[in-house]
Amino acid sequence: MSDGSSFYITTPIFYVNDVPHIGHAYTEVAADVIARWHRQAGDDTWFLTGTDEHGQKILRTATANGVTPQQWADKLVAEAWEPLLETIDISNDDFIRTTQERHEKNVQRFLQKLYDDGHIYTGDYEGYYCVGCEEYKQLTDLVDGTGEYAGQLVCAIHSKPVELLKERNYFFRMSAFGQRLLDLYESRPDFVQPDSVRNEIIQFVKHGLTDLSISRQTFDWGIKVPWDESHVIYVWFDALLNYITAVGYGEDDEQFARRWPATHIVGKDIARFHAVIWPAMLMAAGLDVPTQVYGHGWLLVGGEKMSKSKLTGIAPEQITDTFGSDAFRYYFLRAITFGQDGSFSWEDLSARYQAELANGFGNLASRVVAMVNRYFDGRIPEAAELTDSDQRIRDTEQQATARADAAIERLAVHEAIAAVWQLVDELNGYITEQEPWALAKQPENAARLATVLHTAVHGVGTLAILLAPVLPKATAKLWSALGREDAVDAQPIRSAHEWEAVGRVTALEALFPRIEVEAAS
Ligand SMILES: [Zn+2]
Repeated sequence: MSDGSSFYITTPIFYVNDVPHIGHAYTEVAADVIARWHRQAGDDTWFLTGTDEHGQKILRTATANGVTPQQWADKLVAEAWEPLLETIDISNDDFIRTTQERHEKNVQRFLQKLYDDGHIYTGDYEGYYCVGCEEYKQLTDLVDGTGEYAGQLVCAIHSKPVELLKERNYFFRMSAFGQRLLDLYESRPDFVQPDSVRNEIIQFVKHGLTDLSISRQTFDWGIKVPWDESHVIYVWFDALLNYITAVGYGEDDEQFARRWPATHIVGKDIARFHAVIWPAMLMAAGLDVPTQVYGHGWLLVGGEKMSKSKLTGIAPEQITDTFGSDAFRYYFLRAITFGQDGSFSWEDLSARYQAELANGFGNLASRVVAMVNRYFDGRIPEAAELTDSDQRIRDTEQQATARADAAIERLAVHEAIAAVWQLVDELNGYITEQEPWALAKQPENAARLATVLHTAVHGVGTLAILLAPVLPKATAKLWSALGREDAVDAQPIRSAHEWEAVGRVTALEALFPRIEVEAAS
């Protein structure tokens, strides 16, 4: 049922300065589930992630570690960022690094075009600069420092002092795009989501846009301004362009036309870069603006935003080593309403693992497969006449498929999983109610037993198809136990409920084994 339409989705490219924590992994799994869903639906899907490797902060860290910034970036990519994708089972189609030639060359091409078309001028800039954010701050973005920084103004995000900088810079005439941006938000209410982020962006732009300083002369770790090599390009201006340089901007028009525009999944703290600066840059270049900018909420641990600098960073392997990547993916997308802030706790994670994955879904799958083995020697029986109870399961399969797909269209990943979980719950209730183990003792009910187990197998197979984007490893095992030699993620997801349950099942080990959890924090 696919029209094969293009679906291009991105995560932010991650700053290589530090090592990944579960906040980064959360963004990755959200984008990954959406990408896998579209891919499984037959859409012409492209999922991009990568790393942001320029800027003063990287230069300082590399210097402090006695290596060049390129060596530092290479090390972090190889030892931290690429392994992260493996750890949480990310299915990206491409990985862009801003130090790659395909990026650097075409960033220069983009900037040259803006310069030639009169969108760039020279000026002096003086302002408060946060090295952590790599941006100039307005006074309203600063707060009074506490502790060792008492008496100084500090960045509200990093809680560290800002620097007063004065530079002769190149400026992008962003102020010229204020009205066009407001018109964009008005005519396409979905352009920025969720509404809380959209409202904040609209207020920000209504307040009036200033021009953007887009070059730096005080350090040299960056892409050189093509007409003045004594300047490097501002790291955010450079980084945002990855979304188009990765899909052929400037050198492969066919690829670019096929992929662009993209849906951007970002944390709400960087929504302003993506929903204001980035579309203004694209408008200036005469290119399409993104399909959508979605600013998800923060992960909170003990009430504080997850970040390494606040020492609340938890490495994703701390979770996956015990619970596995499927449980990681499921937990963060199920427990947190996508778009809102959400709290992580080890207690909640282990409670949901046990109740929802092990007992709810895993046990259901094991029981159904075991009963087919026990009562039908492994052969999936054909259904006789359907009762209302059987029909209700078939209806729920269809509704779960439709509702989950509609939720994914709105990027409401948590709702998609909840819609599928209704089928998990109903199937568990159905088996309790129908008591196939009792029917098996009554030879006169042989046809009824066949119908019940056929219905149950069908429901479980539909679950495998619908949950493949979230639980790729468990659903692959289940699909194979249902006797299928093809791949579960090759089954058309928008018609998941239409698969045919025939053939023989094999054995199925526990999908989510019992875990003895010690206080793991
Ligand atoms: Zn900052």
